Amino acid sequence: HAKENGRAGYRFFRDEMNVRTQERLAIEHDLHLALKREEFELYYQPKVDSRNGEIIGGEALIRWNHPEQGRVAPGQFISVAEQSNLINGIGEWVARAVCAQSRLWGDAGLKRVPISFNVSARQFLYSDLPVVLAQAIADTGADPTLLEMELTESVLMRPQEVQSALAAIKAMGFRIALDDFGTGYSSLAYLRKIEIDTIKINRSFVNDIEKSVDDVVIVQTLISTALNLHMEVIAEGVETEGQAMILCRSGCCACQGYFFGKPMPAIQFAELLRQS
Ligand code: C2E
Ligand code: MG
Ligand code: MG
Ligand code: MG
Repeated sequence: HAKENGRAGYRFFRDEMNVRTQERLAIEHDLHLALKREEFELYYQPKVDSRNGEIIGGEALIRWNHPEQGRVAPGQFISVAEQSNLINGIGEWVARAVCAQSRLWGDAGLKRVPISFNVSARQFLYSDLPVVLAQAIADTGADPTLLEMELTESVLMRPQEVQSALAAIKAMGFRIALDDFGTGYSSLAYLRKIEIDTIKINRSFVNDIEKSVDDVVIVQTLISTALNLHMEVIAEGVETEGQAMILCRSGCCACQGYFFGKPMPAIQFAELLRQS
């Protein structure tokens, strides 16, 4: 195929590459400035008990308020940050911001619910995360038992390297959640080696449960795996009442998704906490 296109095909591919590389470099450049200028913001999405609508937690999700491009979603810049060492600086900012926010909400007398934040595999391997988190706790006076670190299965693919870091983070009191469960390549054996408090079922498994019996069976298997291992379980990407009902009947009444609330600015999330 490539041969048929000959030089023109190669040329096109190369130009495409250049554009991509330039785009990536431009984002990287802007991300450096963004860290200095504090252009990042954390949005918070509620986690809810579907039986009564009570808020049981929240997830912090980063947003970038770009001076020219407006609000940028993490999908557009986290992978660029991961390819450079920028993810460490961003991760440190996230950790400090979420600790400070949790402390503020506690001081304001709002309902005390665990707030989770996301950590990239790369950040886990190349920055001294236990030190970063200990410093964030010391500087903000946050209660680590109200904080939960969300990591993905790709972190668990390197169990030897991460085990001691995870143990140190657990020992400080942080909770650990396994994000996007079932979408990665890690084997279930890793679940034995690492202390995980919560398993998050990815929305790809939730999407079609109203239509597909097979998907219901898969979700039920994921839920019972978590429960049998004495872990908590929460479903992500719950968009309809029907999905929430099927999940709850299957043993997972903790839900996160647009049906219960989209990610929102901290001030709005505080209002939700105040009402509950
Ligand atoms: P995630 O941690 O799995 O977060 C869930 C994503 O699903 C969020 O996208 C959220 O807005 C979206 N979502 C929640 N409920 C629904 C729903 O009902 N339907 C649909 N279609 N989507 C829903 P978001 O905020 O764009 O974040 C995307 C990913 O970026 C996150 O996936 C996480 O992997 C990463 N990310 C976000 N914030 C951070 C951060 O502070 N640090 C790092 N390292 N990664 C982050
Ligand atoms: Mg997450
Ligand atoms: Mg997820
Ligand atoms: Mg994810």
